[in-house]
Amino acid sequence: VVTSNESDVLIIGGGICGVATAFHLAQFSERVTLLERAEIASEASGVNAGGLGGLGWGNNPDLQSYLTAGSFEIFKTLQLDMGYDIEFHAPGGLQAVHTAEQLDFVQDRVLQLQSEGYHAEFLTTREARAIEPEASESLAGFMFLSKRGRANPVKATVAFGKAAVALGAGIKAKHDVQALTQQQDGTWKVRSSQGEFRAKTLVLAVGAWSRPIGDMLGIDIPIVPIKGQMWATEPVPPSIFHLSGSMESPFDWSQQSPNDNYPPEITHWGDTRITRHLYGGQTRNGEIIFGGDRQMVGYDYTPDATGIEVNRDQASEVFPMVGRLPISRTWAGIMPFSMDGKPIIGKVPQFENLFVLTGLASSGFGRGPMSGKLLADYIHTGHPAPVLVEADPARCVTFK
Ligand SMILES: Cc1cc2nc3c(=O)[nH]c(=O)nc-3n(C[C@H](O)[C@H](O)[C@H](O)COP(=O)(O)OP(=O)(O)OC[C@H]3O[C@@H](n4cnc5c(N)ncnc54)[C@H](O)[C@@H]3O)c2cc1C
Repeated sequence: VVTSNESDVLIIGGGICGVATAFHLAQFSERVTLLERAEIASEASGVNAGGLGGLGWGNNPDLQSYLTAGSFEIFKTLQLDMGYDIEFHAPGGLQAVHTAEQLDFVQDRVLQLQSEGYHAEFLTTREARAIEPEASESLAGFMFLSKRGRANPVKATVAFGKAAVALGAGIKAKHDVQALTQQQDGTWKVRSSQGEFRAKTLVLAVGAWSRPIGDMLGIDIPIVPIKGQMWATEPVPPSIFHLSGSMESPFDWSQQSPNDNYPPEITHWGDTRITRHLYGGQTRNGEIIFGGDRQMVGYDYTPDATGIEVNRDQASEVFPMVGRLPISRTWAGIMPFSMDGKPIIGKVPQFENLFVLTGLASSGFGRGPMSGKLLADYIHTGHPAPVLVEADPARCVTFK
């Protein structure tokens, strides 16, 4: 167990990305210490919807397939083989189609995905209601993704931390990192609110706080904080069985030209809503949870009541029973978006022995575990997996 303040690798950030990297490095017997300013899973990794998985590997896996399909397997391992109860359950995901226009788009998309070897199917509303009885009769159909599911975000993130500790890693909560210095010999000295730490290699896994941590080194890690918000009902008997959402936003995004001032796949440009986005389901404790809005409003944790109502209306279009249940609580968290929509994973070219893992945006819970594994492999072997080329920090990290 790492007890001293010296280690091979020092990781900053105790979200899913940091703990997954720690776990995989510890599997290689690297001496790892992780510093988290608050508690493990206290930011995005603890407040998300827990949606995970995607389309499977496909015939020719790209980075996104690696991250989603690979993470899906790692979540399974954590629960089924290692015995951590993370509420992992993968019944598949249903995406509602609201209009005839969306129907054409979705049917084309399903055919395209199938031709690429991905697991996607079109279901008529009747077929969907056979597996999800509360789904509305009035919809135009559903896309069904069999490789999707949910896990409890806090339990899963904490479990990766525990699994890392079981392999000898040191995980230190309430250690706010305040300064980073590279020594003459290329090793790192890190000042935290509870003392100094040293390591050969430094990993920045601070999610939406990548810009402030980059400032400590005089580099710009171009991540913008995006607010995501959710709401929950009181616990009710089992009613919604799949990870559920809507095809309205993918359709709208496919029709819009990009706006250079905003990252892709958000719901608002300034105050203007450009789409409605929906995802959610029912948790093990019986709450029905939904969310969707993604707004560029800085580090703002206040749920916006108007946006919650829009989201609830959309959820009620998909599941009429949801419209009859009062909202019992709302919350928000901050997601790390890059401006080109791609993750930033790999070596920071401006410094020796410095790595970064961020930019997993709105799917970082479901993609964090494999991102951590790919980064751990890179650090341990000195070579990046070929799929990481798309995520290379060299494309966007600059000196200020
Ligand atoms: C409402 C909402 C719903 C979402 N739903 C889903 C979903 O269903 N599926 C999905 O896959 N993704 C979802 N996401 C996205 C997902 O939560 C994020 O992409 C992911 O959690 C990012 O993980 P991370 O480790 O990069 O960042 P974080 O979890 O934010 O972790 C970064 C950590 O770094 C710490 N830190 C920052 N600065 C310092 C410092 N100076 N010193 C020490 N520690 C520091 C922070 O305290 C924090 O704990 C959702 C997000 C939100 C907000």
